[in-house]
Amino acid sequence: MRVAVVSDIHGNLHALEAVLAAVDADPVGELWCLGDTVGYGPKPNECCAIVAARASVSLCGNHDLGVLGRIDLAEFSGDAAVAASWTRGVLTAESRDWLSALEPRGERDGVALFHGSARDPVWEYVLTDEAAVATLLLTTEPLVLVGHSHAALNVALRGSELEAGLSPEGTVLGLGEARWLLNPGSVGQPRDGDPRAAYLILDLDARTASFRRVPYDVERTQSEIRAAELPEVLAARLEVGQ
Ligand code: ZN
Repeated sequence: MRVAVVSDIHGNLHALEAVLAAVDADPVGELWCLGDTVGYGPKPNECCAIVAARASVSLCGNHDLGVLGRIDLAEFSGDAAVAASWTRGVLTAESRDWLSALEPRGERDGVALFHGSARDPVWEYVLTDEAAVATLLLTTEPLVLVGHSHAALNVALRGSELEAGLSPEGTVLGLGEARWLLNPGSVGQPRDGDPRAAYLILDLDARTASFRRVPYDVERTQSEIRAAELPEVLAARLEVGQ
């Protein structure tokens, strides 16, 4: 089965629609979402409705939990807290009910799924070798997927040898003969220097992973952020992917 993996959509409807259009041009068996469907962005309810309808498995992330009131907004940075508070005010009952049922960790078809990491599924950023090893040692599945850092990356553990790097667009990996930890990158707020929406295509039979980027109408999302009077920095960062 082929699977499209998305994460960190963050209420960016036009980025999500661009990813799904690209996915639908070469259809997959399932869509998996690693969390943070809301927060930062101007269209949280639209994104929840689409992911709820299309994803076979969805996790919640720290922003989703902040919006629900299950994490104190004092734990968020200023702009993130402002956006989470705004999102709380516009969230529909349907979105709330759907988000409330999600967990920050899961398992599907022998693949371990976390929003953050195995050590801390809500908050930990897997951005160091130490963090990657910790998550690989706390899991037994050959393949582990994480989101949260908004950077597309891959980590391979062969015996005691670790190899890690960013996964720019076009990166294709064979997943045999190692344990892997992959981050698809962020759909709605990339932070790895490429502003295009990020997603990952897995082929669970051929054991391959293909990292993809797709352009979307950044200006349209920016104007929605400004119309909602969300912090300007949340609009500005989208065009640079930082
Ligand atoms: Zn996020």
